[in-house]
Amino acid sequence: MSYKITLLPGDGVGPEVTAAAVKVLEATGIKFEWETIDIGESAIKKHGTPLPDIALESLRRNKIGLKGPVTTPLGSGFRSVNVALRQKLDLYACVRPARSIAGEGTRYKDIDLVIVREATEGLYSGVESWTDEQKSGAITENIITRSKCERIVRYAFEYARREKRRKVTGVHKANIMKFAGGLFQEVYREIAKQYTDIPSDERLVDNMCMQLVKKPEEYDVIVTTNLFGDILSDLTAGLAGGLGMAPGGNIGEAVALFEPVHGSAPKYAGQDKVNPVAEILSGELMLKHLGEKAAAEKIWKAVCEVITEKKVVTYDLALPGYTARPVKPSKLSEMANEIARKVSEM
Ligand code: NAD
Repeated sequence: MSYKITLLPGDGVGPEVTAAAVKVLEATGIKFEWETIDIGESAIKKHGTPLPDIALESLRRNKIGLKGPVTTPLGSGFRSVNVALRQKLDLYACVRPARSIAGEGTRYKDIDLVIVREATEGLYSGVESWTDEQKSGAITENIITRSKCERIVRYAFEYARREKRRKVTGVHKANIMKFAGGLFQEVYREIAKQYTDIPSDERLVDNMCMQLVKKPEEYDVIVTTNLFGDILSDLTAGLAGGLGMAPGGNIGEAVALFEPVHGSAPKYAGQDKVNPVAEILSGELMLKHLGEKAAAEKIWKAVCEVITEKKVVTYDLALPGYTARPVKPSKLSEMANEIARKVSEM
């Protein structure tokens, strides 16, 4: 039996990190049939659009995908492929675990947090306008609906129950945004009451940032709206060792698409330099989603071993802040080969 997976390498460092993830996934011995489709800059050249319909059709058909990052030019230019994918496929739950992987020199050694971010509405709804013809002001609408709050909060509590997590924290800014924040808060409280087996609390987003830096061990699963979740997941990625190691999944009722938290890092594109672990661990999350727990465990163990040994690690893990010992940085492909070698020997 083999799994048919939609593979979207993306652009920037995307093709390099997805090739690394494919190598490691295949080292588990599981059979995959990859349906590879260009999105982002290469798709514009080929199809005239960064998100061709064939990508959406493939994901709808295969129901599961692995994606590399895609560049979103600031301001004008094409709209975000990432936001469009989440909205068009209704990938409403963006799940981003932040787990620290042993390393001297990291500020925190035992981070284990999960951000569950609503990914289809809020400030990323794409409803924007100018206040006048002179563009002297701009409006971005923060659309929050009861049904989507219910869906994401329920997802977070179900996730916490299924994964045997300790607690759920709802994050909002209901004190200032009385309508949008207030609605999320109200729904969060209603649903939390239905999960008496899971301890829960709430934080305002500004306080949450401070608390996460000061005492991250007090938190576990964090559920929040789109923009707050985007920001908090970069923060928790930083706590756990950096963007190079932060994976994610975009989960909907019909389709699940796994991708790293980091972007296309254009300044490193084509240099065989960046850390492939975030994409590899996105593959690990994909295996768990497929029910391939033993293979996922092998990948996690191999990644932990390679990072702990620090013989073959990319530049970000060889920086003085990350390690007390001097380490010569390896290439992306060398680190991926080392992880794949360990996986195949387990
Ligand atoms: P970025 O994540 O691409 O890079 C920021 C910095 O983080 C890099 O300069 C690098 O120092 C570090 N970094 C990122 N990935 C790394 C890795 N694998 N290993 C080691 N270090 C790594 O963020 P950015 O520069 O703000 O965004 C670049 C582009 O990516 C933008 O167009 C943005 O819109 C897009 N983006 C895409 C996604 C996605 O596809 N899901 C997510 C975030 C950003």
